[in-house]
Amino acid sequence: ATAAGAVGHARPRSADLYHRGRVVFPGGITRSTIDIDPHPLYVSEGEGAYVIDVDGNRLLDLNNNFTTLLHGHGFAPMIDAVTDLLRRGTCFSNPTRHEIALAELLVSRIPAMEQVRFVNSGTEAVMFAIKAARAYTGRPAIARFEGAYHGAYDWAETGQSGSFESAKTGLRMARSAYTGAPGTTADAVVVLDFNDVDGLEESLSLHANSLAAVLIDPMPSRAGLLRPLPQFIERLNALAQQHGILIIADEVLNLRQGYNGASSRYGLAPDLLTAGKIIGGGFPIGAVGGRSDVMSVFGSDGKAPLVPQGGTFSANPVSMVAGRVAMEAMTFDHFSRLERLGTMLRSRLSDLAAKYDAPFSVTGAASLFRIHAKRVAPTTYSDARMTMVEATRMRSLSRFFRHGGILLPSDAAACLSTPMNEEDIDSVSAAFELFLTTHDT
Ligand code: PLP
Repeated sequence: ATAAGAVGHARPRSADLYHRGRVVFPGGITRSTIDIDPHPLYVSEGEGAYVIDVDGNRLLDLNNNFTTLLHGHGFAPMIDAVTDLLRRGTCFSNPTRHEIALAELLVSRIPAMEQVRFVNSGTEAVMFAIKAARAYTGRPAIARFEGAYHGAYDWAETGQSGSFESAKTGLRMARSAYTGAPGTTADAVVVLDFNDVDGLEESLSLHANSLAAVLIDPMPSRAGLLRPLPQFIERLNALAQQHGILIIADEVLNLRQGYNGASSRYGLAPDLLTAGKIIGGGFPIGAVGGRSDVMSVFGSDGKAPLVPQGGTFSANPVSMVAGRVAMEAMTFDHFSRLERLGTMLRSRLSDLAAKYDAPFSVTGAASLFRIHAKRVAPTTYSDARMTMVEATRMRSLSRFFRHGGILLPSDAAACLSTPMNEEDIDSVSAAFELFLTTHDT
């Protein structure tokens, strides 16, 4: 059985490309975050809310390049602006007016961002935020939350506290879902549980003297797109203030939650804030911003910066212009409209799970949602972690959606884009209902 816009199963061209990819890429792919089931879906083009794969199938794109695209694919005002720019040069070692225009937009919208520096990715933004916090406080360590994703900087990846001895050398390596960091990394990372108020209190007090910052995604997506408890945010603000620990809000993904971003929505009071994804309009970008006195580590009049930050492609005009056009088009009303659609979708999906007494639940906010193959919506990372059975159930839902013409990430946040409308909510809900009535969950 297939859902709305039935497209069937055969994808020989994608299978062929995977065959070639496996020769040149370790694991067959060049990003480990790609779904392979049984091969990746290779895309030939995007069109508004849809992507068209190389076998000619059209799919509603609920992934939007890992939540990057606010306006879907081929957003006309952005194409015009970028096309004009391409003729005039795409990168210079000199600054351009375009970086100032995007910075002004961000600073005017995001309360925690008094000043900003542009980089090329969310990973880099988090890396510089951590360096800035260490330089500003003179403390070496950071605290972060288990299961949350902040890109590929060693300190931002280190997971369960501690280290282990390499089986090959007996030398100490950091314990993490990502092997490859030295054991000393783990010495400078305190790992906390999201929404655990007592644990937060205890750990921050214990490590107060060594902690430069707490790195927090206000609604960590990989950890389950978990809604922050108000008392947890309040306690974090107060403890950080009390101990002189900075708060780094990683809004690379969750800036999407509103015109003013996510921290202001949840009452989080960050000293530094990282952004990425939506602010580049579909081109590579990252940004680290925050309080002017903290940001002065990157430069202050007449003094050498404590943290020199450059980057060959940082603030390249293409990302700056595309980002500004995408963000300018995303008015307060557009955020509200996407939020209404998101609320509608989340409640329709939850109601269907309840109606069929199916082991599924939904988390998220604004235009973001995540379906869990679990009966109760998780509030902590340990609740959100999938068992093998749940992971299989989630993959089977994602596969069913794909065959029905809907691209749904199986273990990450999904999102809506401005070209979507209520009919799209209907077709996602219909596909979910069809799955629930045709599969033994
Ligand atoms: N921080 C968060 C919260 C993210 O979701 C991501 C990427 O998904 C990153 C950082 C890393 O961003 P990038 O992939 O642009 O390096």
